[in-house]
Amino acid sequence: MTSSAGPDDSALAGPVRTCVGCRQRAARSELLRVTAGSDGSTGQTVVLPDPDATAPGRGAHLHPTPGCYDLAVRRKAFARALRLAGVGGRSSAPVGDYVGSLASSNRTAPTTRDWSSSS
Ligand SMILES: [Zn+2]
Repeated sequence: MTSSAGPDDSALAGPVRTCVGCRQRAARSELLRVTAGSDGSTGQTVVLPDPDATAPGRGAHLHPTPGCYDLAVRRKAFARALRLAGVGGRSSAPVGDYVGSLASSNRTAPTTRDWSSSS
């Protein structure tokens, strides 16, 4: 197996992004893209999940986990990454809801992989 000269990151397939929560680098496909958008009911600027990574404009990337979301909120990382002035933690609630729904669906989903038979 030959490997071209370069950083070890090249072993990851595809582009690599930094999670704004834990600051770890990961393949973009593992991270949730978030963008600034307008809340439909209030018109205020909020941080929205962009799971398809199709929204225009500046985006930030986050592990879609409550832990990394919480870290990002505490560091005000969304506001910094998206260049949003004066945006409080509550403005990223749509992302929190999205991450929370992912986490709860993971928790309640039955395990289809047959781990038990291997040990
Ligand atoms: Zn993370």
